[in-house]
Amino acid sequence: MEKQPPVVRTRFAPSPTGFLHIGSLRTALYSWLLARQHGGQFILRLEDTDLKRYVPGAASAIYNGLKWAGLNYDEGPDIEGPYGPYVQSQRLEIYKKHAHELVEKGLAYYCFCDEATLEKIRQEQIAAKKAPKYDRRCLNLKKTDVEKKLKENTPHVIRMKIPENRKIEFYDLVRGKMSYNSGEIDDQILLKSDGYPTYHLAVVVDDHLMNISHVTRTEEWLPSTPKHILLYEFFGWEAPQWAHLPLLLNADKTKMSKRKGDVTLENYIKKGYLPEAMINFLAFLGWNPGTEKEIYSIDELIKDFSLNKVHKAGAVFNAEKLNWLNSYYIKQIEPDKLTEICIPYLEEADLIKKNGSEWEIADGIKKDLKWIKKIAALEKDRLEFLAQIGENAKFFFKLPAYEKELLIWKETPAEKIKESLEKVKTIISEINEKDFSKEKIQEIIMPEAEKIGNRGAMLWPLRVALSGQKNSPGPFEIAEILGKDESKKRIEKAIEKIV
Ligand code: GLU
Repeated sequence: MEKQPPVVRTRFAPSPTGFLHIGSLRTALYSWLLARQHGGQFILRLEDTDLKRYVPGAASAIYNGLKWAGLNYDEGPDIEGPYGPYVQSQRLEIYKKHAHELVEKGLAYYCFCDEATLEKIRQEQIAAKKAPKYDRRCLNLKKTDVEKKLKENTPHVIRMKIPENRKIEFYDLVRGKMSYNSGEIDDQILLKSDGYPTYHLAVVVDDHLMNISHVTRTEEWLPSTPKHILLYEFFGWEAPQWAHLPLLLNADKTKMSKRKGDVTLENYIKKGYLPEAMINFLAFLGWNPGTEKEIYSIDELIKDFSLNKVHKAGAVFNAEKLNWLNSYYIKQIEPDKLTEICIPYLEEADLIKKNGSEWEIADGIKKDLKWIKKIAALEKDRLEFLAQIGENAKFFFKLPAYEKELLIWKETPAEKIKESLEKVKTIISEINEKDFSKEKIQEIIMPEAEKIGNRGAMLWPLRVALSGQKNSPGPFEIAEILGKDESKKRIEKAIEKIV
């Protein structure tokens, strides 16, 4: 029979102990890319054996987050597959069976030590300036004693019998050759007294039974890998390939944990970050193609991503870069779609309220979708994330309070500014309501602004009068959106202010 080419099967194995951390999404992304670029499979497995840390709702945050990011999985808790179940708490019998198999092989043993005994051992070792480690007293129990204790239902765990003084070496696809000495490893608990497996047993059993070819996870799991390698050896299984990814760091180089800053994906989704931007950003947190190219679509990532180019050093989370990418992707959105995704943010900011097929923007004032579309299109270039539209576009709905000094353009005397505003007011009054477009307004105002020999002295106060802000889009665009009456009213207000 012809030999089948090796299949790449990667997995994302989060513990549902909180909300989806963006660092976890980066791990998921790298695993997903690896599978997709080799035409392999990407598996989602929930590692929920730590009952104390379980957070309700965390599992659905994981499903939703992956879906949002477009990281589809081929097998997982909510879709099943040939190697299920994909939730560890539903696989308890499997782990038990494997732990007992190692006991039978003499590679693991029952330990009946209670908390107090373990603590006593620890304190004695600390006092003797030794690294705390289980002293293996249960390894030497007589077979009959073990049987008796088991019969009496004495609480117990199953521990791994770590060989003494063995060199454990492996090749990590990111970090190269790694070497450990088994003497540094404690006799790891495999099965806890409540019958639940520890992470170490469950991860190895599942990665093997689920046919995982590459284990991609963050560097914090590196010290666990020698234990895992020994377990593969104990079971007589072939180990997968390992790739330990760099940690994500805050700007001050501290580890990006749950407590500091904005780390939940949900938070970014809420603020209006786009999946394309987030994926592009996360891809570069620990990987670099080695070229100048910074904008990557997901398909380009599938093509160019490579574990060889993943860094060893921690990756600093640069929020400005994320904003830059997000604003880039916002600019690419076509107007209808942009309007649709901006609407919830305008509603949230209490600027618009749906009323039949129209939108109420103030008591009795209704606008259509076209009007909102103009605002979204105009504000698009100033958005780093969608939620900013609430603040940035507020002035269309209500003129903000501003100081009269803001109307003054450079050294221009106030009287001149006033004259300019009077002039634009007249011009605007004369434009026919139905011709009130930015092109038309510009066509008439520009020659007047040129005439006074200083465009700014007319355009600046006009823009401030219309927006009440230091920074805003250009005056003609704003005027068109505000409409003739509102524009006139705002210019009149500015004139009153300046006298
Ligand atoms: N459940 C572990 C976690 O929460 C998985 C680590 C691994 O990928 O082996 O990150």
